Amino acid sequence: MNKQLSITIVIALLLNTASTLANSTTLTAKQLAKKAIIVDTHIDAPSKLLAEWGDLGSTSPSREFDYPSAYSGGLNVAFMSIYTSASDDQQGKAKQIAHTQIDSIEALIARHPNKFGLLSSPKDIERLKTENRVLLALGMENGAPIEDDINQVGKFFKRGVRYITLAHSASNRISDSSYDPRRQWNGLSPFGKKVVSEMNRLGMIVDVSHLSDKAVKDVLLLSKVPVIASHSAFRHFTPGFERNISDELARAIAAKGGVIQISFGIPFINRKSADDLQAFFKEKAAIAKQNQAAIVSGTELIDEQSFDKNWWDKHPMPVTPIDAVLNQFDYAIKLVGIDHVGIGSDFDGVQGALPEGLKSVADYPNLIVGLQTRGYSDEQITKLLGGNFLRVWTEIESGAEKS
Ligand SMILES: [Zn+2]
Repeated sequence: MNKQLSITIVIALLLNTASTLANSTTLTAKQLAKKAIIVDTHIDAPSKLLAEWGDLGSTSPSREFDYPSAYSGGLNVAFMSIYTSASDDQQGKAKQIAHTQIDSIEALIARHPNKFGLLSSPKDIERLKTENRVLLALGMENGAPIEDDINQVGKFFKRGVRYITLAHSASNRISDSSYDPRRQWNGLSPFGKKVVSEMNRLGMIVDVSHLSDKAVKDVLLLSKVPVIASHSAFRHFTPGFERNISDELARAIAAKGGVIQISFGIPFINRKSADDLQAFFKEKAAIAKQNQAAIVSGTELIDEQSFDKNWWDKHPMPVTPIDAVLNQFDYAIKLVGIDHVGIGSDFDGVQGALPEGLKSVADYPNLIVGLQTRGYSDEQITKLLGGNFLRVWTEIESGAEKS
C-alpha cells in the first residue's frame, strides 16, 4: 500500500469514527430526556394516594412521583397503577378500590389541568402534551376488579384503563400468579381466556408481569396482538424467581412484537432480595388463607400491615448501584434486540428499595447517562425511553379497530 493511500484511509477512518461518536451522543442526557418521549409503564402513585393523600401537583418529598420531579426528569407519559391486592379481592373490595383510585387520578388532573392530562390513546400524545404537561395513563395491576363479569373489562376501558396485569401476588379468577404456590388453573382460567379475547377486541394491552410461566405461555398463544410485561426484570440475574421474565418467554414476547419494560426495584434486580421477596409472598399467601378462615369463623384477622413492616425490618435491602439496572438493559437488548425493551420503574411501589441514582421520576437523565456511557446512540436510547412501547400500544389499538 503506498503512503498516500494509507494516510487517506486513516483520515477516512478517523472521520468515520468522529461522525459515529457525534451521532451517538449529540445531546446531553438532560437534553435527550426533554427531546425524547419518556414513557414509564408502572408507577404506583394511586394506591399511595389512597393510603396517604397528598397533592402530587406540588413537591411531595415522601413520594417518588410528583409533578415537579416528573417535569424535571423529562417524563411525558406515566402509567398510574390502579392496584388492588389479593386480600382486597378476598374481601370483595377490589372493584370499589379500583374505581376510587381512578377517581383520585381524575381529581388530580382536574386540579392541575396545565400540569397533567389523561391519556387514553398514543395518538393523542402530541396534541395533549403541550409544553409542560405530564400525561397520565391508567394500567390496572391485578384483574381482580373485573370480578367474574366480562362486561367490567369494557367498563374499566371506558374509564381509561389501557392495560391489565391479569394477576398480582395470588392466583385470581383470571390467572395463576408467579408468587402463588397454588396453580389452580395451570395457567389462565377459562374466564381468563375470555378476558384476554375481550381485551384484544377493545384494544386493551395484556400485561403478563406477575403471571406464572404457564399463564404467560397461554396469553402468548391466545392473544392476536403483541403483549407487554409492564414491570419485570430478567430471571437470568435472579435464578428461580419466577416473577422475573425467563429468557425463553422474553424471546417469545419479542417474537410476537411486544416489549419488556424493565423494573428498577432492588427486589427484582438483586438476587438475595428476590429470594426474600419470594419468601415474603409465600408467607403472605399463608396469612391470606388464615384470614379467610378467620372471616368465616368470625375470629380476629392477622394485621397484614404490621406483618409487612416486621418482615422488611428483618430483611433490609442492600445498597445497589445503578449499574445493576444498566446490566438488565444490556442483557435484555442482547437477548431480544433494541426494539423490545423499555421502562416500567415501579416507583412508589417498592417502599423506596431503589438503586443509587434512580430514586424518583426526576432521575431518568441518570439512566440516560448510563446508557450513553455504555455506548447506546441517542436513537437507540429514544426507543428504550418510550418509542418501543408506543409502537406496541399503537399496534394493539389498531388491532381493535380491525376486529
Ligand atoms: Zn407489581
